[in-house]
Amino acid sequence: MSTELNEADMAAVARGQKLFVESFNEKATVASAAPGRVNLIGEHTDYNDGFVFPLALEKSTYLVGKALPEGQECEVVSEAMEGVVAKFMAEDSPASESVPGWARYVKGMTAIYARNGYKVVPFRAAIVSDVPLGSGLSSSAALEMATAVLIEALSDLQVDASKRALMGQSCEHEFAKVPCGIMDQLISSRGESGRALLIDCRSLEATAVPLDDPEAVIVVANSNVQHKLSGSEYPTRRRQCADAAKAMGAKHHEQKISHLRDCTLEMLESVKDELDADTVRRATHGISEDVRTLKAKSCLENGDLAGAGKLMHESHVSLRDLFEVSTKEIDALVEIAMGVEGVYGSRITGGGFGGCTVTLVKKSAVDELIKAIEEEYPRASGGLKATTFATKAGKGARVVTHLLA
Ligand code: ADP
Ligand code: MG
Repeated sequence: MSTELNEADMAAVARGQKLFVESFNEKATVASAAPGRVNLIGEHTDYNDGFVFPLALEKSTYLVGKALPEGQECEVVSEAMEGVVAKFMAEDSPASESVPGWARYVKGMTAIYARNGYKVVPFRAAIVSDVPLGSGLSSSAALEMATAVLIEALSDLQVDASKRALMGQSCEHEFAKVPCGIMDQLISSRGESGRALLIDCRSLEATAVPLDDPEAVIVVANSNVQHKLSGSEYPTRRRQCADAAKAMGAKHHEQKISHLRDCTLEMLESVKDELDADTVRRATHGISEDVRTLKAKSCLENGDLAGAGKLMHESHVSLRDLFEVSTKEIDALVEIAMGVEGVYGSRITGGGFGGCTVTLVKKSAVDELIKAIEEEYPRASGGLKATTFATKAGKGARVVTHLLA
């Protein structure tokens, strides 16, 4: 865990301490932070045991906290949820026990640490975040991983960063009822400054790939659209991928197929007639996206930004036409970006049905890109404004206690 000084960290921790004092009339002693993330390429591959290629944002969620005596309830406030103090016991408890929706991420982490045999000390905590909530940049994983690091610091626990991510994923499944893959928690837990991480979602092996070319910048553009149907569409896509893998497994049982990760387009062709057309399209994306993701890793290792950008855009086309998780607003953002000189590639990022795009762009073209989005997006989206920011690869989950005033 890094403890390097950083202006965003200092400002956020000061905000957190202020909220803590206002809420609890005392000062916090420990501060933790964990970043949101953006995925360069490798979308809807994590639950297929495939490859993802995210980077941690320079924006994080922070918890400032203090231990309470044994047997007391945890008390948590969030800057985003003004005035509400969520209270719960730091022990293995069912997801059904009521706390406000947002506090389930914190309570869920204490419950899962306790279930895994860790002795969790009760605490008070104040949450502040620079990660926009509900925009597809994984504020939920950031909250889980920042909570985890606070628990570890206050309870004096040593926990492997991948195990921490797995416990965060369980929290998200059980306490937030989101059947997510492992990417968000893993990159938030293990992210590295100046590097993207190629993650093998089967082995959880993560390979750091330098993303520190001074000429290359990542621009995230939030469409500010979140379509309601995302709730049922995500589990449906997962099931279609699993169905396709199962059909290929039955046909090619000598090959040990459990997920799309194990499949090829030739195998898919051989079971095409047993599957409906939607399922075939979803599986085509799942299989080809793994290939693109591994190629993009090679491109970045070789400094081939143009090659990586081309693969990012191919990924977008596949997500738009085969996986069908894009929207007209996101397509407009991608098209605007692709029309700007100096843009290497642009695509939808995150689960889909709204959210954000990620664009790899020459540093000298960033202003031009942001201007083009400001001018053209409202026209293409029926009056909406996009929110944009440029980022480099930031740090993973960490203790930042020394910044507490
Ligand atoms: P995303 O992870 O893409 O931001 P999610 O819907 O998965 O979107 O997670 C957003 C939810 O996580 C919020 O609605 C809230 O319940 C919870 N959350 C995230 N960050 C915070 C925060 N700083 N304070 C309170 N709740 C938060
Ligand atoms: Mg989330």
